[in-house]
Amino acid sequence: MQHFPSARDMTLSERPDEPVYCFRRKVLEADARHFTENFPGRTAYAVKTNGEPFVLETLAGVGIDCFDVASPAEFAAVRAVAPDAEMLYMHPVKAQSDIRLALETYRLRVMAVDHEDEVAKILRIVRALDIDPGTITLYVRIQTKGHAAYELSKKFGAAPAHAVELLQRISGIGFRCGLCFHVGSQIEEPQTYERALGSAHWVRSRAGVDLVGLDVGGGFPAVYGHDPRRKKVEMPSLDEIMAQFRKDIVDWGFDDLPLVAEPGRVIVAHCLSLVVRVLLKKGRRLYINDGIWASLSDSWTGKITLPARHIPDPARRRRTGRPDAIVPFKVCGATCDSVDILSRPFWLPETVDTGDWIEIGHIGAYSLALRTRFNGFYPERVVGVDTPFEDETGALGLASIETMSP
Ligand SMILES: *Cc1c(COP(=O)(O)O)cnc(C)c1O
Repeated sequence: MQHFPSARDMTLSERPDEPVYCFRRKVLEADARHFTENFPGRTAYAVKTNGEPFVLETLAGVGIDCFDVASPAEFAAVRAVAPDAEMLYMHPVKAQSDIRLALETYRLRVMAVDHEDEVAKILRIVRALDIDPGTITLYVRIQTKGHAAYELSKKFGAAPAHAVELLQRISGIGFRCGLCFHVGSQIEEPQTYERALGSAHWVRSRAGVDLVGLDVGGGFPAVYGHDPRRKKVEMPSLDEIMAQFRKDIVDWGFDDLPLVAEPGRVIVAHCLSLVVRVLLKKGRRLYINDGIWASLSDSWTGKITLPARHIPDPARRRRTGRPDAIVPFKVCGATCDSVDILSRPFWLPETVDTGDWIEIGHIGAYSLALRTRFNGFYPERVVGVDTPFEDETGALGLASIETMSP
């Protein structure tokens, strides 16, 4: 990986016409440590958030030895960089062939389920491979309610009474039992975990089976930007969420169980930025060389406001507009698709123009992972940089990000 002191240095020396991801290894290390030091249990990084080898390697390097995986490609990605790490197969709905591969080739021993037919699928393969069910832990995923940028309870999870039945069935077969939930991504209500723990407590007390663990999933929010024209949702910091969480764990009587979390976003969001180029400025509209089918789909569907910084092209002689006026620009993506327009504007100096660059911050989660080759565009250049996004110089577009002063 090529290396530069800052994203700005990279931009001015390379003058890139294609999007470039700027990776800050130290930021990733610090954010990973911050989570693992605050969470009162085991951290299983959710590989789907960003499964790039350089990310997985960095995480393994700071001691993350457990990964939440959902597919053969994710098993292989983890095994390639961290051969001794444990993998938790937490997808509740799995292909038979993938279950077999997980059990037989990768020797995974922890899985999630939310339906009896999934248990039957697993049991068939366990019997065929002559594995002792007592060596396998099945976590029953329970439905949760709450507000998150991405809500998942409509798709996965057993209702509490159903979860009780599942636990009893699993325990009757001889599997080890756990309970898990995943409240969705980027929670928008601090009480979300408390409510989920309440449901888990209800299920546990009705089921009357021994549990070997509680997996509280992901959803821990990353700090992004804020569109000044919208009402601001105040979210507590990760430290505050964790302090409350530790208290809730005791209140709901789960302090006797080993805990697991599956954070994704909160660990990787800040370690990458993306330098894009303005292909054309049309009034208050900017056409850039990336978009919702490449790195920006998460900000589009999750309506997330990302911080943005203007890197003017020094070769441009004439500019119009006031350099100190930060105004909203509608941002159009690279493809010829009419929906490829961001759902939130970029706030940038009025002087931004064709040929300039924009560094989009905090794009480490669900960006590279969600790229498509639609229309032939596929950003893939990654460089290493040292300076954290917050510390780079230059007109900061979205002045509202909490940790930055405009
Ligand atoms: C996506 C996912 C995660 C990670 O969620 P974040 O919001 O990125 O922390 C964790 N667990 C499961 C089961 C998931 O599907």
